[in-house]
Amino acid sequence: MTRAQNNLFITYAKRYGQNVRETKPSRFLEEIDFTANPNVRYVTIRCADSESGLAVEERIEKIKADLQEKAVRSINQMNLKSAIQRIIDLAMVKHFENQGTTEGFDHHDVLDVDNTDENLKSELVGKKVSLFQKEDLHLSTTSIKTYIECPLKFKLSSILHVPEAARTYFDVGTAVHAVAEHLTNLETEGTKPTEELAFELLAKEWSSSAFQSETEERQKKGEAKEMLKTYLRWHSQNENKPVAVEQKFQVEFARVPFIGSIDRIEQMPSGELEIVDFKTGYAKESSRSLREYPQMNIYALGVEKVFEQLPKRASLFYVKHDKIVSYDVASAQVAKVKEDIEQKVNAILAEKFDATPSFKACKNCSYWDLCEFKETEES
Ligand code: SF4
Repeated sequence: MTRAQNNLFITYAKRYGQNVRETKPSRFLEEIDFTANPNVRYVTIRCADSESGLAVEERIEKIKADLQEKAVRSINQMNLKSAIQRIIDLAMVKHFENQGTTEGFDHHDVLDVDNTDENLKSELVGKKVSLFQKEDLHLSTTSIKTYIECPLKFKLSSILHVPEAARTYFDVGTAVHAVAEHLTNLETEGTKPTEELAFELLAKEWSSSAFQSETEERQKKGEAKEMLKTYLRWHSQNENKPVAVEQKFQVEFARVPFIGSIDRIEQMPSGELEIVDFKTGYAKESSRSLREYPQMNIYALGVEKVFEQLPKRASLFYVKHDKIVSYDVASAQVAKVKEDIEQKVNAILAEKFDATPSFKACKNCSYWDLCEFKETEES
């Protein structure tokens, strides 16, 4: 036992010779609880009538286990040629399992692998290893917003994909957003949005189990209904015609693709286009800040890509506060924001992910618990 290098095989027979009764396993096996011990792979080999004494599947499993063990041993001893031979043998076993024959097996298929691992080459010469494949990078308006807020937060979520705490609560804002989307879709198909229809759709989106008490649910439902009434009031006074809802688009910054979706694109009476983005939270932006807002400028470029013209106007509609914040889109401003975003994208490509903590950003950050840079007090 002390000489086992990789695995130790212990076998016992249930019947010897002409024994009528089954033999008990050794008490030493029982001591290690061999059938339930997680460190023991317990297999039963049945006797069969075939020439080798084993059923076909068992025979193949035995060959596989034998080859796997030899391959691992060869790798451990850096006997690589022998390891490759075992791996090719295993590939042939796999081919046999799938095809029922060794005919047609070509070992070149196993050796046809990509050996251009740049990270390994860098590691060997002591160079910094890339955190991610630059050519696979895709960004969105949300991810660039995260980068602007805190590059470390972006790294944790979009590069390292550290899972965020699951949101189990029902989000009233998301439900209102979904109803507004349904109503716009129905409107483009010729159905007039009404309060009755809006409340019916809200009932379908609603989840009563998310609330602690009936009082809380009643209050939140009241808020949602008020938001929908605001939406319908706005809709009845809106002179524009909807052109697209949840319009998908793709644009590029520093050759990195940005994928997004715009809530609503409308045609103004002048024939020009307007972007409308619904917000169900607190009103944070002003017309001045909206001009610099990456999301709206990316949307403007998305509209230009899809409709071959920049929108005339971009608006955020804060449904909770019945407040619309708009600005007139100007190509020079869009170009300036594009340049700023390209600088950020280049910083991402250069892997600049230093934390920029602020109490406002950190208090709502999903990585609060694990982040050593968080700002815990308002300055
Ligand atoms: S806790 Fe603050 S500093 Fe840390 S990742 Fe989040 S936002 Fe950045």
